[in-house]
Amino acid sequence: MSETPKPPYDPSHPWHAHEVAAVTDHLEVDPELGLSHEEAGRRLDTHGHNRLTQQAGRSPIKRLLLQFHQPLIYILMASGLAAAALGEWVDASVIFGVVLLNAAVGFIQEGRAEQALAALARTVASEVSVQRGGGRHRLNAEHLVPGDVVHLSAGDRVPADVRVMHAVGLQATEASLTGESAAVAKHNTALPEETRVAERANMAFAGTLVVAGQGKGLVVATGDHTETGRIARLLSATQSLETPLTRAMGKFSNLLLVVILSLALLTFVIGLARGETPVDMLMAAVALAVGAIPEGLPAALTVTLAIGVARMAKRRAIIRRLPAVETLGSTTVICSDKTGTLTENQMTVEVIYAGGGVIEVSGRGYAPNGQLTVDGQPAALGGALRECLVAGLLCNDSALIKREGEWDVDGDPTEVALIVVARKAGLDEGSVQALCPREAELPFDAARQTMATLHRIEGQGVVFVKGALERIIPRCARMLDADGQVAPLDAAAIDAAAHAMAGRGLRVLAFARIAPAHQLDGDDDVAGDLTFLGLQGMIDPPRGRATAAVKACHRAGIEVKMITGDHAATALAIARQMGIADESDVALAGRELARQSDEQLAATVRQVRVFARVEPAEKLRLVKAIQAHGDVVAMTGDGVNDAPALKAADIGVAMGGVGTDVAKEAADMVLTDDNFATIEAAVEAGRGVYDNLVKFITWTLPTNFGEGLVILAAIFAGATLPITPLQILWINMTTAVLLGMSLAFEPIESDVMHRPPRPPGRPILDRVLMGRIVLVGIIMLAGAFGLFVRWFDLTGDVALARSVSVNVFVAVEIVFLFACRSQRRPLWRLAPFSNPWVWGGVALQVLLQAAFTYWPPMQSVFGTAAVPLGAWREIAVVALIALILVEAEKVIRRPHDSVSLARVAEK
Ligand code: ATP
Repeated sequence: MSETPKPPYDPSHPWHAHEVAAVTDHLEVDPELGLSHEEAGRRLDTHGHNRLTQQAGRSPIKRLLLQFHQPLIYILMASGLAAAALGEWVDASVIFGVVLLNAAVGFIQEGRAEQALAALARTVASEVSVQRGGGRHRLNAEHLVPGDVVHLSAGDRVPADVRVMHAVGLQATEASLTGESAAVAKHNTALPEETRVAERANMAFAGTLVVAGQGKGLVVATGDHTETGRIARLLSATQSLETPLTRAMGKFSNLLLVVILSLALLTFVIGLARGETPVDMLMAAVALAVGAIPEGLPAALTVTLAIGVARMAKRRAIIRRLPAVETLGSTTVICSDKTGTLTENQMTVEVIYAGGGVIEVSGRGYAPNGQLTVDGQPAALGGALRECLVAGLLCNDSALIKREGEWDVDGDPTEVALIVVARKAGLDEGSVQALCPREAELPFDAARQTMATLHRIEGQGVVFVKGALERIIPRCARMLDADGQVAPLDAAAIDAAAHAMAGRGLRVLAFARIAPAHQLDGDDDVAGDLTFLGLQGMIDPPRGRATAAVKACHRAGIEVKMITGDHAATALAIARQMGIADESDVALAGRELARQSDEQLAATVRQVRVFARVEPAEKLRLVKAIQAHGDVVAMTGDGVNDAPALKAADIGVAMGGVGTDVAKEAADMVLTDDNFATIEAAVEAGRGVYDNLVKFITWTLPTNFGEGLVILAAIFAGATLPITPLQILWINMTTAVLLGMSLAFEPIESDVMHRPPRPPGRPILDRVLMGRIVLVGIIMLAGAFGLFVRWFDLTGDVALARSVSVNVFVAVEIVFLFACRSQRRPLWRLAPFSNPWVWGGVALQVLLQAAFTYWPPMQSVFGTAAVPLGAWREIAVVALIALILVEAEKVIRRPHDSVSLARVAEK
């Protein structure tokens, strides 16, 4: 044994310049067994977790400064300066206090929302398949250490820098590292030391994406030591908090800015013309400006969205891009995969067709307990049946494992089902695989719909092929009979058997072989001259909750389409069982789809609800064809080739469990449980969030409108201001936080999924809500102005009259808050205590109003005075009138709603 001491581990060692054996030696790992668990643990302690040190996103200072960079805040600051210039120190300091408070609230809320979203994004952690202690395990990529042997396959994100040990058609796109978007083919031979990073084809780098093939790699650098880590180009995990709605509100603010400035100017000019002093008029203009600005709006929108996203995460839908929350509410068509999303992806072989006979298999699930029978008698394991089962074991990349005493899947359930049925027949995959070592493979890929492997059996090469019926049968020249003898191919009988299986909703795989075979380098080697071995039909039951979710979608005016790689008959049978299709429906096959022009396809997609044998590349055309009708499309996907369709869809939905990293990255939303029902739940939650946003906006605007009107009216009437700028700020700030925010916690209304989807282009506030805002604003104006004049006349005490006026605003806001809990349903139809936040907020607001009105220190700051009981009675009457009018308006409007739903039902 050589005694030269090993140099210490250096992550920047030129790994690419050495042969694989030298690298495994250097990293002291057995390439077959992988590291032992203890050694991996030790290395984790030494090298730390495999994650990059988070680069700071926008600097906190910049984020804070951006809080002031809003047109409405500019007006506030200008108003503050004006007040200071006039020597109104209290007013000026309160205005600046509000500006600062607003910035602080915005800063904190935004930071929290960003963090929460980033944390959610991290929960979709990347898992890797790693060889340790002689077995294959799945673990979180953060636990990888130098020396780990990892398996890579198409769709994976490369978890660390690895030296490629073995590659079969392995390709990766390294745009994130090199800027080059074309995929790079990988191999395992050593390269000259001076090879540049972009050309190191025997290395795969952390963060890049495997887009084709399979391979094995040896981890040589983790975390910050990887190439990506070294160039520190990791984009910060934070994402923009902007959504179409917040953008629309931004535009609205700009409009508001112009209106407010013009009105303020008008106020000033009119006042001067009437002979008022410039100082008074400047203060009036300031009052108008601060009154008309909805200060709490931006923060409230962010908070409502963040709460919505957290609610969705609880329901297993992780939002990766915030705008998706709103888009979900407008979704009109959901295109879903079948296997695993609508169905359980728990495969059990139920029937085998081999040697011209049908063999039934008993037993459900992955426990290998059951029997193979022919006409009730145990089936004899020989001839075509045996070969068909052996093909299922050898042309297989998955494993049946026992996890905590339960039989479970490592890999693809379809393949594990083949292992289970072989075991039921008495074959053991371990010994079969040992006797027939694999020499080459063509991995399964959804576009090819087949998989092939080359084995050495008793000195002879044999290729086994399995895959979709239509891809295998045309390539078969003969078949094996029950005794294992070669017989002419009976394509008609095979077709009939396959159709019988598919008609029961079974997923059918065909098996064939080439013996003797010499090579398996590409598709050409399995293009023809195959010997048909048999069919295996497996059941994959529909997910329980998914069927109910399909029904809920239909009720909500959302169409559900199944887009699957599976056989048309299988797809249609499952679609019928789940209520996606009915007896009159037919399935459109991918082949026909490919023949149609874009225009034809746009017409077909309207009628067809089941698309079968669709290759991932065609999903993109489907999305576009459906969108051509103005539909908002959610599309599910899990493979690498699904990424373009996921990106093109309005809502790309990736599977958290079986989905590849490539698909997750392209998606707007990730389902952690892969279940169709979760999409429906997310749509419901999305509609709920949007509802709550609109509720807040509807609630907040009348106050600003009313305040603006009061000031204008006072100026036009030449009266004293019924509320001062300071009092206005008091109203706006306290009520926005205590009352308005509580609407973000409003539970989802029970009828959200009984309404049609919101048309995407519809303005946030429709005519009805605008009308309601104006109505409430006018009630506020009339109440506040009227009572101000009345109590000023009665008492001559302007402080008292102003206090009455402020309390009118707050009282109307409180009753309107209850009314806004639902835009459609009258108050008495709402569960009174379903949102405790509303009650808590109101209680606090009442306490604050009492202090504002009666507590001397606050009286001196805000210029208020104690309000007599008689005034409270009148305030209550105004509030009551507001409530009655708004609720009456809701009731009158009801029929309009049912009409639009009826229209959807007709559709
Ligand atoms: P969905 O698109 O709804 O998830 P799917 O899982 O049936 O449906 P694919 O995974 O694209 O779609 O499979 C398409 C076809 O390829 C299957 O119907 C089957 O015939 C064949 N197939 C699936 N898995 C394998 C595999 N591991 N090896 C060989 N062929 C397979």
